[in-house]
Amino acid sequence: MGDYILVIGNDATDIFKHYNVSEMHGLNILDAQAEEVDKTKGNGVYMYGLTNYDPADKKLTAKAPYKPFIFLNMGTFKKYSLTEQATAVMHETMHMGILLNKWNIKDKEEEVIGTAEEEANKIIAKLKGLNLLKK
Ligand SMILES: [Zn+2]
Repeated sequence: MGDYILVIGNDATDIFKHYNVSEMHGLNILDAQAEEVDKTKGNGVYMYGLTNYDPADKKLTAKAPYKPFIFLNMGTFKKYSLTEQATAVMHETMHMGILLNKWNIKDKEEEVIGTAEEEANKIIAKLKGLNLLKK
């Protein structure tokens, strides 16, 4: 891929702070404050991660200077087992693979999943190197 940015936060509000916005993609910073799915706040969501367009990318180009992002919330990740952490990263890299192919993966399913797997392995290695994952 190489066509996205990785944002690591301490909690889910950090992705909003990174882009200096209070809402994006139908989510708002109040939603992000929930530590688990909480229907009494915002949209009743919580985020261990989020993959989407740069909120300034109004035309959804997914290209520089508006590369899409994968965001990972370490506040939640630290509560996960190593396998849950790994599948959560792969969940987000799959979203990115689909986004970068504009949801048209009909004839490249294996390629997109393979790339998502490679990217997930790179991200996991990086997080381990930063001591952000369980050993
Ligand atoms: Zn998802």
